[in-house]
Amino acid sequence: MNRLPLSLATHFLFASLVVTAPLRAQQPVAASQAATQPGTYWSDEKLLETVNAVAMGPRLLPRAWPQGARVAVLLTFDDDTQAPLLRDGTTEPTALSASDYGAQTGTPRLLEILDRHKVPATFFVTGVDSLIHPELVPLLLKSGRNEIGIHGWVHEYPPGLDSEAEEERLLDKAIARISSLTGKKPAGYRAPSWAFSSHTMDLIRKKGFLYDSSLGSSEVPYAILAHGQDTGVVELPIDWTLTETPYLGAQGHMASPDLLFQLYKQEFDGAYKEGTVFILTLHPYLGGHRAPMQHLDDLITYMQSKPGVWFTTGAELTKVARQAAGTP
Ligand SMILES: [Zn+2]
Repeated sequence: MNRLPLSLATHFLFASLVVTAPLRAQQPVAASQAATQPGTYWSDEKLLETVNAVAMGPRLLPRAWPQGARVAVLLTFDDDTQAPLLRDGTTEPTALSASDYGAQTGTPRLLEILDRHKVPATFFVTGVDSLIHPELVPLLLKSGRNEIGIHGWVHEYPPGLDSEAEEERLLDKAIARISSLTGKKPAGYRAPSWAFSSHTMDLIRKKGFLYDSSLGSSEVPYAILAHGQDTGVVELPIDWTLTETPYLGAQGHMASPDLLFQLYKQEFDGAYKEGTVFILTLHPYLGGHRAPMQHLDDLITYMQSKPGVWFTTGAELTKVARQAAGTP
């Protein structure tokens, strides 16, 4: 059902040839090595300084999971609706409506699944999306099981902002708005587009976040180091494998939606075997459609069929991880 028809595939192939050929021709014949491959000129110190600016510290795994569980499961959702499009100045209603789908249709559908299984989840919400959809945050909090973290003000792209002051201004607006809706200070931060500027780590620490969920050096919680020093902030890692974005939608490549379930199941089975953590990230505007939601439903049913699975939130997982590090 989800296979691309041959004629359509041929169309895309042809279109890509037509579009890319002139672009390639426009590129300079001899681009400067310094401009296109700057790392080839970097000193050893510059190479090390770059990777050590924000880096992985010790893994933070407890000797035992709460409730005697064998594995921890953290279901997360980046509840992006129109904010990323508005950031880019999009005014076109069709594009905006496709993102509105996340709030109008995807989120209620996934909340029904979570509530039916009585499992918690963690939602990362932008200030602007909560402004456009005033019902969103109350809906997410209705069950009393879910947590809400910060995902920027208008899904700004941190590396593209003009200054640290500008990044802080937008972050402060997001924190103020989400806190006013939830009634408490958010524990978690997830960078819009999972992207850090050179100031983001300092700001995460300055604003008192207990954890970040934007980096991916591991599949398990770890301490974040900045220039070799422990920041005190816990990383709950994300991964492009454990999200639906590469597989679904206009840019996605997946021969059958059934493969989504197989992928997530095998990742969970691996975590179960290790006795570690399974962290999944979905986007309601994309993963909230019927087929992927059926797979989420089936996945939760499968996970609940195994003994010793601890479904938790970002803040709870962070608490356990910090205890593992001896920093309650
Ligand atoms: Zn996002």
